[in-house]
Amino acid sequence: MGAPIGVLALQGDVREHRRSLERIGREVVEVKTPADLQRVAGIVLPGGESTAISLLLNSSGLTEPLTNAIAGGLPTFGTCAGLVLLARSILDGRPDQVQLKGLDVVVRRNGYGRQLASFEGHVAGHGPLDGAALPAVFIRAPIIESVGADVEVLGTIDHAGIETPTLVRHGSVLASSFHPELTSDDRIHHLFCDMVEAATK
Ligand code: GLN
Repeated sequence: MGAPIGVLALQGDVREHRRSLERIGREVVEVKTPADLQRVAGIVLPGGESTAISLLLNSSGLTEPLTNAIAGGLPTFGTCAGLVLLARSILDGRPDQVQLKGLDVVVRRNGYGRQLASFEGHVAGHGPLDGAALPAVFIRAPIIESVGADVEVLGTIDHAGIETPTLVRHGSVLASSFHPELTSDDRIHHLFCDMVEAATK
């Protein structure tokens, strides 16, 4: 079964990530305090509202220990708002929102535009996710505007004729602008669990 995987459980779609991880046989710990964080071999930062999660990270005392854990190589998977929290640079964010860093990308909050605020599509997988396209749900999703040289692009979508990164990996950090936990395709959660296994060996 492997070491437990944490799901940051302050706000957002915690239950859905829990379900995806349990479906592939992982034990899940809901992380609400610094003590919970000590128990996990990897952590998922769910979607929700990055500004609300920021306030709760600060009030729960998790901002600093989580920033340090990520910098220290704790495997981390951010979806949607989780991606925003991890990004090196946030456009259209609140100036006081938390930045956990760890992921060298520039994101724009709610960047797919008003008409496309929420939509379903298919993401083309690359590298370890080469194969059938991944079903993807986008909900007021951030758009990844640029990625640093060390970032692997593992998933893309055609957005207005431009091949746009939607799933990226930078060292031990994985992040998607969409919500794989809202589909029954568990390939991305599997990939994250493989990263956790590799880090705990
Ligand atoms: N727009 C939200 C934010 O910036 C993200 C939306 C989501 O996680 N579904 O935090």
